Amino acid sequence: MRVREVLLTPGPVTIGAEVQRALGGPVRASYGEDWAERYQNLERRLAEIFRTGGDVVLLFGPGSAALEACLGSALGPNEEILVAGAGLFAERLATIATALRLQVRAVATEPLAPVRPEEVELALRRYPACRALAVVYHETSIGLLNPVREICDVARQRGLITIVDAVSALGGIPLEVDAWGLDLCVGVANKCLGGPVGIAPVAVSGRAWEAIGDGRPKSAGWYLNLATWRRFGSEWGSWHPHPTTMPSNVLDALETAVGELLAEGMDAHQARLAAAAARVRRGLRELGFELVAPDEHASPVTTAVWARPGMDVNHYLTWLRERRGLRVGGGIGQWSGRLFRVGHMGRAAEPGVVQAYLEATAEYLKESQKRDRD
Ligand SMILES: *Cc1c(COP(=O)(O)O)cnc(C)c1O
Repeated sequence: MRVREVLLTPGPVTIGAEVQRALGGPVRASYGEDWAERYQNLERRLAEIFRTGGDVVLLFGPGSAALEACLGSALGPNEEILVAGAGLFAERLATIATALRLQVRAVATEPLAPVRPEEVELALRRYPACRALAVVYHETSIGLLNPVREICDVARQRGLITIVDAVSALGGIPLEVDAWGLDLCVGVANKCLGGPVGIAPVAVSGRAWEAIGDGRPKSAGWYLNLATWRRFGSEWGSWHPHPTTMPSNVLDALETAVGELLAEGMDAHQARLAAAAARVRRGLRELGFELVAPDEHASPVTTAVWARPGMDVNHYLTWLRERRGLRVGGGIGQWSGRLFRVGHMGRAAEPGVVQAYLEATAEYLKESQKRDRD
């Protein structure tokens, strides 16, 4: 089995050498003044990436844990939440909300198309009791962007709390938490930030803190409860600004990734990922592939591609992995076997990796044509 492979998946991503080194560092005590200062400094640098003057919490866990924390901390049993979007990660939001005993209301949308603000407007007229709106910024299952700013604008005008899954967007796609009025916004370290698996940063607005502390019953327990994180942040801030033990080496690795990103510059970083996406889109179209998202709604960090007629997607993905050491993502859920997904995050955005991938795909197609003829 080949151990070394480059991930061209939409997360997790292959990390760079320095991040890898930090990850292999020693376990340190996740408390003490020096630790607290470092942790809070990293929170501030992530606030820069979220483009917020508000708070950022660095939750230890996957993106889904942070989403669960947001939904359960802001809302309580039987309260209504509007979930916008038709993709797999929008469904995940609805599943989490249901598990937290919230009442999920859906926005009627078209499949494979972005949510339209008018659809949200209509849904809110129909379900006026909704207290929050949840939406996915980059629907990673199909490589599609939702107009989060416009959608949240509609919700904000009606006084709703806006909750945004920016897990596959943070750092890689323009995102303006304050300017767009996002109350709770979730990212992860191991997608567009090019960092390690294990930390989910959450941006929390003043309005969100008010909703979290409004005295109404909430669905959240103790750990996945932002009120707990706030209490530790303020009462234990100078020594242990989070509720539990933290993975110090993962935090070190994230600090390295964030440092590299800010040194490169947010705009330059995002332009680099988008250039890789453009190159892949052009190259695959030249090879005769059709892309799932039209250019105007396409994600600049993940490209979803329809399988060509008669193409065995699994065979293609296995061939890439075993013969070229390149791992591309498959379709998930209903799209399994029907599409594949190329990530442009982490090392996958390197021009050499993009070139190797396109050449490998051209070669695969040539080989399979030959197989078909024989
Ligand atoms: C990857 C992803 C998630 C899930 O993240 P985990 O860290 O695996 O929980 C959620 N939403 C979106 C949009 C994603 O791309």
